[in-house]
Amino acid sequence: MKRGGILDMSDALDTLYREVILDHYKHPRGKKKLDHASLRNEGKNPTCGDEIEIEIDLDHDTVKDLSVSCAGCAISVASGSMLYEVIKGKSVDEVKKIAQVVKAMLKGEEYSTEGIDIGDLDVLEGVKKFPVRIKCALLSWTTLVDALDRKSNSETERVSSTE
Ligand code: ZN
Repeated sequence: MKRGGILDMSDALDTLYREVILDHYKHPRGKKKLDHASLRNEGKNPTCGDEIEIEIDLDHDTVKDLSVSCAGCAISVASGSMLYEVIKGKSVDEVKKIAQVVKAMLKGEEYSTEGIDIGDLDVLEGVKKFPVRIKCALLSWTTLVDALDRKSNSETERVSSTE
């Protein structure tokens, strides 16, 4: 597993951005076990060796609590930690909107943050200059959205089977 990728970026990343990412990397938020998890998903980024496990405690359509356990490079861990801070307490719709903003940000596409709170996530925008690292930054988000999508799919199946 490669570590310390942040050091390769030190010249190009803004000092502030670097500090925020390093802080999340050294003190990842949301690394805990949930007593009650309605959804659980794992994700891997083989190109870098990042691995993540996300647990979500859904209360109707709100992410009441979640846990993010990521082992990997600074970018993947920091992104997961920021995800935890931003996502906790949000509705599933909001979560999906934020995930779309993060994707667009990393791919250098147009996005709007109007009406949504993205917390520290704007620091991830610097990652787009490093195509190899984009997957690292996206890992937690794709793992999260995948878990939520699977839930809505199984609900659809349940509904249609009762018809
Ligand atoms: Zn990585």
